[in-house]
Amino acid sequence: MARYDRLRNQMVDVQIARRGVRDEHVLAAMRAVPREHFVIETMAEFAYEDSALPIQEGQTISQPYIVAVMIEAAQVRPGDRVLEVGAGSGYAAAVLGRIAGRVLAIERHEALGQLAAERMRALGYVNVDVRIGDGTRGLPEEAPFDAILVAAGGPAVPHALKEQLGIGGRLVIPVGQAGNQTLCKVTRHSATRYEEENLGAVTFVPLIGEQGWQEDGRRAA
Ligand code: SAM
Repeated sequence: MARYDRLRNQMVDVQIARRGVRDEHVLAAMRAVPREHFVIETMAEFAYEDSALPIQEGQTISQPYIVAVMIEAAQVRPGDRVLEVGAGSGYAAAVLGRIAGRVLAIERHEALGQLAAERMRALGYVNVDVRIGDGTRGLPEEAPFDAILVAAGGPAVPHALKEQLGIGGRLVIPVGQAGNQTLCKVTRHSATRYEEENLGAVTFVPLIGEQGWQEDGRRAA
C-alpha cells in the first residue's frame, strides 16, 4: 500500500540513516521489507514508529533502528550464510534475507516460529529458514556462519555460537543483566583468536536456554 511505502521510506531516512547507519545493503533492505506484516494486525498502523512493539508470547519485535545497527555491525554481505537467534516475528530475518545468501533463524517459542515461517512463505523469502529450538546451542549442523545475530540478551557470549563462526565471522549479541545490557561484537580471527568490542548500552528481552538464562532469571549452567 502506498501509505506504508511512504512511512517505510520515512522511517529509514529519519530513524536510521539520519542517526548514522550508512551501510547501503541495510538501508535498501529496510526500505523493502514490509514491517506492517510482521506486527500484530491491530498494531499495523504503528509499524513504522521508532519503537519495539509487543508480539505474541509476551515477546517483542525489535526497534527498527537497533535491527539496522546490529546488521551493520555484523557486516552482512551478499552471499553470506547467517544465523539469527531469536526469530520472534521474523522481521530481522527477512531484512537479513534481502542481503545475505542464506539465513537460518531459530526461535524457542513454537507458535512464534511457525508464524514467522508462514510470513517468509507468504512474502517469498525463500532463502530464510525458521527453526524451532534453543538458539544458545546454535545450529552446529548448518555451521560455519559468516555472521550470527542474537536478538535477546544472555549472561555471557554462548561458547557454541563462537565456535560456529567461520574464520573472519562476526557475532553480535546483547550481554548482561536486564537493565544493564551492552551490545557485544565478537570477531573470529583464527581457530582460537577472538576479538570482542563493546558497541554500547541496549535493552533486550532475556535469552533463555542452555547457555543463557533460566526461565526463573538465574544463569543457566
Ligand atoms: N528478531 C526478532 C524480530 O525481528 O521480531 C526480535 C525478537 S525478540 C526481541 C527476541 C526473541 O528471542 C523472542 O521471540 C524470544 O522468544 C527469543 N528467544 C529467547 N531466547 C531464545 C533462545 N535460546 N533460542 C531462540 N530464541 C530465543
